[in-house]
Amino acid sequence: MSEESIQALGTVLDAAQRIVCFTGAGISTESGIPDFRSPGTGLWTKMKPIQFQDFVASDDTRQESWRRKFSGDKTIEQAQPNKGHLALARLVERGQCLGVITQNIDNLHQNSGIPDNKVIELHGNATYASCLECNTRYELADLEAQFVAINRIEPCKHCGGIIKTATISFGQAMPETEMLRAQEYTEQCDLMIVLGSSLTVFPAAGFPQYAKEIGASLAIVNREETPLDDIADVVVREQIGSTMALVVGLN
Ligand code: NAD
Repeated sequence: MSEESIQALGTVLDAAQRIVCFTGAGISTESGIPDFRSPGTGLWTKMKPIQFQDFVASDDTRQESWRRKFSGDKTIEQAQPNKGHLALARLVERGQCLGVITQNIDNLHQNSGIPDNKVIELHGNATYASCLECNTRYELADLEAQFVAINRIEPCKHCGGIIKTATISFGQAMPETEMLRAQEYTEQCDLMIVLGSSLTVFPAAGFPQYAKEIGASLAIVNREETPLDDIADVVVREQIGSTMALVVGLN
């Protein structure tokens, strides 16, 4: 069953010329970053997430959020790309894949060698921060040094705006440019490959469905069932790293 489905994935992949990969937390578990919905991990049950509105409204809440950030673990900052990320980078390098639409915030697609302009981050990025007003980028190491020194993060030195990690928080609007670019990728691709997503977080999960509806092939590589398995051309219920290394021909 698995061998057949992996072979089928290889066949659709070889026939495609404009692949778009759609990735979720599952592609990064082999790099040691837990996902949200695999049994037993439950990242966000450990601490109640801070809503965007509360972060913006209260300086105390902002400082609490920074305290969490700097006292929490550094799993994301220290993670390295795995075979799954590297296989996707190879597809992009070969010119067979337009790019990646990702729900991940871990920067591992960029670290695997895919150019920044080919990684569309729907939920932002946890490895740096930016000003909510003027978008100036701030490095976490510099902010951490400030937090250690004065026990708080000051407003943006350019415009006085609020500095926040570059992730999209609960209650925060989806990034417009990224949503538009993801739609363009979806309309251009002849094959969308979903890798490691439960396809339950919307609006992100709408892209694979849309790709299939407008004529692209749809392949899903995910350990567990997803709501789109029934409409997919190929479903592979295997580990992403070994599966993608095999079909892409990574040594
Ligand atoms: P999810 O946790 O809902 O689903 C992950 C899916 O991947 C699960 O169905 C699981 O069975 C599968 N999976 C896990 N490891 C796998 C592997 N090695 N091989 C094959 N399948 C595997 O993830 P989601 O759909 O991305 O939604 C979660 C949300 O959480 C996203 O919005 C994302 O922004 C955020 N998140 C990001 C990270 C990260 O950046 N690495 C980590 C946790 C959560």
